[in-house]
Amino acid sequence: MEKTVICPGSFDPVTYGHIDIITRASKLFDKVIVGVFINVDKNPSFSIEERIGFLKKTVGHLKNVEVVGFDGLLVDCAEQHGATAVVRGLRAVSDFEYEFQMALTNRKLSPTLDTVFLASDAQYTYLSSSIVKNVASLGGDISNFVPEIIHDEIFNRLNKT
Ligand code: ADP
Repeated sequence: MEKTVICPGSFDPVTYGHIDIITRASKLFDKVIVGVFINVDKNPSFSIEERIGFLKKTVGHLKNVEVVGFDGLLVDCAEQHGATAVVRGLRAVSDFEYEFQMALTNRKLSPTLDTVFLASDAQYTYLSSSIVKNVASLGGDISNFVPEIIHDEIFNRLNKT
């Protein structure tokens, strides 16, 4: 049976850390749905269209990856796309508590939906969308954080110097 998984996140914006996890998942599973939260708690810096656009430009070459926006419960989005597991990246122990809580909540809501954690690449353990936003807003170099193809669009938007 074909194994479909979902990688959910805000991706505000996508970084090399996200791309690493999505690429790993695409090698492990038959199909990967990248689910972009439409309504992010924290006011997103980029619109849903922009966040999806950045992802398509950076993981679009992976043939078994599809990028979708979603609103509402992750378990519903997973079911809608036939995903049997959620894939999340773990950077450090500090990620663990929140991720474990979410995994167990999702299991309560949908007992058959499991969560798989993939260890981040050591070179990206420090990296997050917030780091990109902070550094770029101060005019710092973000070329080690996001791919060249989306770099200028992100930098020009965030740079406040
Ligand atoms: P959320 O807002 O749900 O935390 P993010 O967009 O920050 O979503 O992250 C989406 C997924 O990518 C999460 O599983 C997160 O752990 C993972 N992730 C983010 N940055 C990295 C990184 N540097 N290395 C590995 N995984 C990462």
